[in-house]
Amino acid sequence: MVAFGGMQLPLLLLLLNAAFGSAYHWFNWQYEVGCQSDTFIAPTDEAGVVDFLNKEFPKQSLIKVVGNGHGFGNLTTCINKGVTNRTSHIVSLANLKKFQINKDMTVTVGAGWDVYDLVNKLKEHNLSFNYLGAMRVQNIVGAISTGTHGTGQKITNMATQVVALRVVDARGVLKTIDEHNNPEELKAFRINLGALGLITEVTLKVQPTHLLKKTTKVLNATTDYKKLYTELADLYKEHDRMTVWGPHFNWDTKAEDWAIEPTFFASWWEPTNYTGVRNCTLNYCANGCGDCIKDYVCYDETSDAVSAPPEGICSSQFYAEIEHFFPMEQFVDVAVNYTKFQQAQTPRMKGYENEKMIFQFRALKGDDSYMSPANIYNLGPENSGVFGVLEIDWMQTVNHWGTLYNNQEFAYEFQNEFGAMYNARSHWNKMSPNDPKHALSVFPKLPEFLKVQERQDPNCQFVNEFLANQLGIERCRSALKL
Ligand SMILES: Cc1cc2nc3c(=O)[nH]c(=O)nc-3n(C[C@H](O)[C@H](O)[C@H](O)COP(=O)(O)OP(=O)(O)OC[C@H]3O[C@@H](n4cnc5c(N)ncnc54)[C@H](O)[C@@H]3O)c2cc1C
Repeated sequence: MVAFGGMQLPLLLLLLNAAFGSAYHWFNWQYEVGCQSDTFIAPTDEAGVVDFLNKEFPKQSLIKVVGNGHGFGNLTTCINKGVTNRTSHIVSLANLKKFQINKDMTVTVGAGWDVYDLVNKLKEHNLSFNYLGAMRVQNIVGAISTGTHGTGQKITNMATQVVALRVVDARGVLKTIDEHNNPEELKAFRINLGALGLITEVTLKVQPTHLLKKTTKVLNATTDYKKLYTELADLYKEHDRMTVWGPHFNWDTKAEDWAIEPTFFASWWEPTNYTGVRNCTLNYCANGCGDCIKDYVCYDETSDAVSAPPEGICSSQFYAEIEHFFPMEQFVDVAVNYTKFQQAQTPRMKGYENEKMIFQFRALKGDDSYMSPANIYNLGPENSGVFGVLEIDWMQTVNHWGTLYNNQEFAYEFQNEFGAMYNARSHWNKMSPNDPKHALSVFPKLPEFLKVQERQDPNCQFVNEFLANQLGIERCRSALKL
């Protein structure tokens, strides 16, 4: 299990319970989002999950299943105890640790696995995931449920690797959903936002271990953004699997403005027949760790080449982040206009504890999961089906709440500004603003998703404020006192 500042999730919840009396407090990874429940439940096995939900159904108890809380925003919060007359439970499936290798290059794993531990377990069997996020501190179901992704124009998000799953609905009924027997339904369940029940296990595609070559190149920055981003768009034509870390800006405390750093860097990955020393973990060169702005090449097993384990994550100050997906054809326009919008709003950042602002770009192949931010359902014939992914990180010198909240409020505004213009979709766990109208236009399968949601959860036991507001689940508002 992944530790939070040296503490494991159940222990953290337990200690918080001791500190706060009878309420259980859940927090996300940087402790700025949280909720209080009446209980914390960690069933020992799948039968325990069934039994628990079955007993809670007549009482219409509120149930929020949590992974590792590695997100920005309130997707994973429970309904606070006392807000309604229903009991509020936080549920962790951390004890469900099944691990089974199947014959067809898939593995079946319990919902208790963290991605980090699972990657290590797969390594013991010379297996690997091809598709991971930039970090691997999430719970495996938590990662899948929001569409966690890496980069690659031929690479889809992690959820697309799910070929089957087992889920328990609000009545306590266990159901298996797989690509052979219920392929359409699997499209609803892959990215489920915790709204469709408690997923107890998933079967995922894996691959035999193979190495990737990672090349990092220093690039020159300029405030001629059209030129800068046209060069990056050209680089994406050469490299299928590439992340651009930049441009970087530093807060100039005298000028109270962002100053662009003269250089930044891009990394790309490609297959290799190299068999020598594996060395990408010698310099993670991501997430504030390592000596990054230099040209270098390394080789490693896929997971270690594309994603950083916890020891490769050095930044621990508060930060705010947005991540938007948009059709790749609009890359230059999107990048220029997001950057200019940010610059125009800089006066609002004066007087706060800003340190760095980092733009990051990735690419992602579209997919057909109903709630995937890279879903292809409303694309036109002019679109290739590949998405550009733009991230902006606002990092701070110290953990200052005012700075965090100021930046987060600002982060929400990008979707209002550009969502309709660029068919842009927000990452579910990265400052996604409430806008059910926009959600319906960029997730055309939302009505189908909500039908499955109502069937799985007729009494709104799994719904929280985020889901009601983001997806427009009107039927749950009065029950949840929203
Ligand atoms: C610093 C940082 C870097 C990140 N980098 C990336 C990145 O590179 N790419 C990317 O795509 N994302 C990235 N993310 C986002 C992250 O991958 C997602 O937010 C992911 O969902 C986190 O998983 P978790 O288990 O920690 O989440 P949680 O917030 O605990 O859970 C996420 C969702 O899954 C649901 N859930 C959990 N377990 C179950 C279950 N058993 N059954 C049903 N539902 C369940 C929860 O209810 C919730 O809705 C990053 C986040 C941070 C903070």
